[in-house]
Amino acid sequence: MALALIRSLPDNGYVLSGNAIIKGQDILNIPQKVFDEIFRWKEISMIFQGSMNSLDPVFSIEKQMKEILKVHKIRDRDRNYNAIIKESLIAVGLDPVSITKRFQHELSGGMKQRIVIANSLLLEPSILIADEPTTALDVITQSQIITLLKNMKNTKKLKIILITHDLSLIPNVVDKVIIMYAGQAVEISDINTIINKPLHPYTQALIKSIPNITSTIKNTIQYIAGESPNLSNIKQGCRFRDRCPQAMDICENTPQNINIEGNQVKCWLYDPKIKITKKY
Ligand code: SF4
Repeated sequence: MALALIRSLPDNGYVLSGNAIIKGQDILNIPQKVFDEIFRWKEISMIFQGSMNSLDPVFSIEKQMKEILKVHKIRDRDRNYNAIIKESLIAVGLDPVSITKRFQHELSGGMKQRIVIANSLLLEPSILIADEPTTALDVITQSQIITLLKNMKNTKKLKIILITHDLSLIPNVVDKVIIMYAGQAVEISDINTIINKPLHPYTQALIKSIPNITSTIKNTIQYIAGESPNLSNIKQGCRFRDRCPQAMDICENTPQNINIEGNQVKCWLYDPKIKITKKY
């Protein structure tokens, strides 16, 4: 989904249906050239997974940041490169004087990730997609990066789409959560519902699987038995049914999205038309 939003799907990927409206334009249905000129990095940018490891080892941080500006046709004489880079580095809590001339091997993991975030903010986008931005960082640096994203969301009015497999990261950052399972959005709920009263059995299992540091009971880590379905051979019906503790006969049919108090869940348990009688 994120790659579709940034118009960078691989050759074997395509958008089957749907729209993504930014500033009144459907960015999925405009010519690629228009998207590249008006929207890419200027309105919507992305921190790719593991991108801190792709900083170029032979160019200084400054040179790499200037390259981004050049590629996106920002002219130095219109908007001073050094001023943009300085502002972007300060926004992510780095000292421009000590950072710009350095190379990636001279930086810690946390600093590299801040550089990557600064790169994504260079053209002041209104939407930032952050794909697993804390992977491979120690817990303290993880916390700093999440705090940084949270601050940027509040101070820069940046809309952040945070992609993560770690639900414990999100409570203080996001307002709304889409839980994906096997390529489908199975629940779309506000953060309070996700944490305190999750609707979908998969969300419930995910929440239960978060280790509780205050628990005194041994062996309490919960996990979801079974494996994800093979996406190249999807059967009809609920995609979670082979692993769902509440599966029923009717789950062999594909569930609809049900609206519940502003949230949305894809599960037969919530379908008001269905009388639940038999276990799967
Ligand atoms: S539709 Fe059925 S199998 Fe799927 S999550 Fe709901 S109860 Fe479980």
